[in-house]
Amino acid sequence: MSFSPSLFSQFIQSISTVIETNAEEVTALDQAIGDGDHVTNLQRGLEALAQQSDAISQLDWAEAFKKTGMTILSSVGGASGSLYGTLFITMSKTANNQPVNLQHFAEMLRQGVDAVKRRGKADLGEKTMLDVLIPVSEYLQNAAKQDVALPEVLEQIKQVAVKGMESTRDLVATKGRASYLGERSKGHIDAGARTSQLMICTIADVLREQSTTPT
Ligand code: ADP
Ligand code: MG
Repeated sequence: MSFSPSLFSQFIQSISTVIETNAEEVTALDQAIGDGDHVTNLQRGLEALAQQSDAISQLDWAEAFKKTGMTILSSVGGASGSLYGTLFITMSKTANNQPVNLQHFAEMLRQGVDAVKRRGKADLGEKTMLDVLIPVSEYLQNAAKQDVALPEVLEQIKQVAVKGMESTRDLVATKGRASYLGERSKGHIDAGARTSQLMICTIADVLREQSTTPT
């Protein structure tokens, strides 16, 4: 089965709702070890994307990812803006006009996550969004190789994302604002890891509903 960017509006709507629902918790996380602006940064981006979502839904994947990345770069401040902008712009370079299947998506995400690693000079275990993005990307590559069925992939992705998010609690931050706290950053989940996990779980839920709804 393949997906098209026509689901874009639904992704943005559902993600906006989940960020709103969890805003207080995420802000408290970013206040504990960051500067507390992560939710408002993301919400600025999501509002800008919502305004573009009809237009983006009409595009092919390459153009859709490019416009998404550019919109994020121009609307979201903070580290997360440049990192998510980089993710989507890099994915757009790997996309082509083919329908996106699991293999192709896994490859796009792998290249996108590599670019985020380079942009933030960060890797696994540094208490950032990468502690969610890297394991999710690796899981998808394996699932694509083994041709795992989509419902199973969507379920597993959620578990991998939650596990990655939870792993950040006991890590010492070595990148981003939280790194200023050193050892004192331990004991708090990273806000960016939490929102990455929430967004990935939401996308998985939208895809699951979409793939089980008879057309
Ligand atoms: P800022 O830190 O500039 O205030 P945000 O609050 O929007 O930006 O985002 C903070 C999140 O960005 C962190 O919780 C972390 O997950 C992520 N982050 C920060 N620096 C990096 C980095 N170098 N690499 C990957 N992710 C990072
Ligand atoms: Mg912040």
